[in-house]
Amino acid sequence: MSTFSAPKGTYDLIPPGSADFLAVREAISAPLRRAGYGYVETPGFEQVELFARGVGASTDIVTKEMYTLTTKGGDELALRPEGTASVLRAALQANLHRGALPVKLWYSGSYYRYERPQAGRYRHFSQVGAEALGAEDPALDAELVILAADAYRSLGLRDVRLLLNSLGDAECRPVYRAALQEFLRGLDLDEETRARVEINPLRVLDDKREAVQRQLAGAPLMRDHLCEACKGYHEQVRDLLTAADVAFEDDPRLVRGLDYYTRTTFEFVHDGLGAQSAVGGGGRYDGLSEMIGGPALPSVGWALGVDRTVLALRAEGVTPELPAHTEVFAVPAGEEARRTLFGLLTVLRRSGVAADFAYGGKGMKNGMKSANRSGARLALVLGERDLAEGVVQVKDLASGEQEAVPLASAVERVRAKLS
Ligand code: ATP
Ligand code: MG
Repeated sequence: MSTFSAPKGTYDLIPPGSADFLAVREAISAPLRRAGYGYVETPGFEQVELFARGVGASTDIVTKEMYTLTTKGGDELALRPEGTASVLRAALQANLHRGALPVKLWYSGSYYRYERPQAGRYRHFSQVGAEALGAEDPALDAELVILAADAYRSLGLRDVRLLLNSLGDAECRPVYRAALQEFLRGLDLDEETRARVEINPLRVLDDKREAVQRQLAGAPLMRDHLCEACKGYHEQVRDLLTAADVAFEDDPRLVRGLDYYTRTTFEFVHDGLGAQSAVGGGGRYDGLSEMIGGPALPSVGWALGVDRTVLALRAEGVTPELPAHTEVFAVPAGEEARRTLFGLLTVLRRSGVAADFAYGGKGMKNGMKSANRSGARLALVLGERDLAEGVVQVKDLASGEQEAVPLASAVERVRAKLS
């Protein structure tokens, strides 16, 4: 062990477990790519002000969880705590919103939050996200939810539940907000929560403490205050999900705290994860663009947590389809055989075969041990006598069967055996 270890709240992805992370990123992004979402990548840090405005100055993320820094040049930056504000900033900066709408984008990367580390909650974590900018259409909300549900399904996860709600819009939400505030002001709450009632009352519904939840039993609900337009919109989203065979549960308490979140809101939860049950979430954010200085741009998106999705796979005992692992392992004996076999390995790899080699000048016995440990299906063994005869031994590692194949046709033969 070295003197150093990964910082608190972080961990390294190491083989073989790291393959699960690749598989999850691939499974989440594949449906998006098929649905016309283009890849976007933004810097790991942005101006603090972007997140203060884009995530919300009163949110836990901004007040407690952001890693901020002042550069030598005096800029106030923050490591990105989430993706939406940056992606919207990038789209506006590139004038994508002046072209065909909606602009559909997906991203994948690392995010940073100064949180209390625990299972499923880290200071450095990984998300795959999707945003559809510039259209208000229930089919677009439904599309995103369906794509996320399909991603979980393709991974083989069975115990993911989808919670769904509508947060109303600029017409009906203010009336509800006032009613909720009046209710909350009558409760026995600590000072910090009372302050939140004034700035961000919907967030109080999300308070995880038992003592608070108990008092919220009779709180007014948004669904009883939705205007006709919001009711109709939400009905359409629900119908489209049902038609697509995506099961959901109405959760009238599901909220996002800020005024620019509107209408559709949803969360994917997994019951095998303990307290950190949310594997992903998202919703419509029709007012966000204006908050960061852009034009009106009604949008919807989600972010799915890669770390928690991997934990969910492990909780269910599901092994995702892994990207190609070693199929062929090459073991030479002698210097000239080594050079020849290394050449063959390179040609095999270039032809698309996943192949590895007994490096480090090990003897035949140790080389075969490595071959067996690699999980390869075939070993290529080349000794001095094979070399003299112009053949290579192709050994099936499961059956032990071995065949001498002319070097000139080895690539073809190996590929045929693997297919
Ligand atoms: P939570 O309520 O668990 O704090 P959140 O509402 O802060 O989640 P979002 O900002 O909606 O989460 O992020 C989307 C997803 O990213 C979450 O559903 C979760 O899977 C993942 N995520 C968020 N914070 C962390 C973290 N600190 N460590 C690991 N994954 C995280
Ligand atoms: Mg959080």
